[in-house]
Amino acid sequence: METYQSVVGVSLDNESVFLTLLYAMARGERRALQHVRQQARRELQEIERTAESEALSILPGTVEELIEELENPASEIDIAVPADALGATHGCATCSTKIIEPDTLSEAVVLHYELSEAAADNARERIANAIYSSGVETGGLGSSSRCSYCHAQDSRGD
Ligand SMILES: [Zn+2]
Repeated sequence: METYQSVVGVSLDNESVFLTLLYAMARGERRALQHVRQQARRELQEIERTAESEALSILPGTVEELIEELENPASEIDIAVPADALGATHGCATCSTKIIEPDTLSEAVVLHYELSEAAADNARERIANAIYSSGVETGGLGSSSRCSYCHAQDSRGD
């Protein structure tokens, strides 16, 4: 079942193959392929949804707890995981190192916790500051597309 594998990257189990064959016999091969593709896409979306909610479950129950974690140097929270799920990371244009975008992340976190406008302003700033000072890769100064290392290499080459 190459179609299925090309969408999901896993093979069908025997039961799915059998059902697809029945479907093909009843509805014709083209319809069967459409059916398999739809099913594969649905499963992929399900996998992505599960991965996203697992990633977001790392975030504590309240924004205050999250800020405390971020401001605590001994904290073991891996903010890169929820940052990924919230679309607040990108790869360095040169070496692909993961770069966390503090401003995008703080905005996404504020939305995630459904903060009021008044609470959001303060939280955004504290989250962004905590991330900038936490030592995670946030990109080179003035450069949004490269990590701090590649950015520094470039500046030296001038
Ligand atoms: Zn880099």
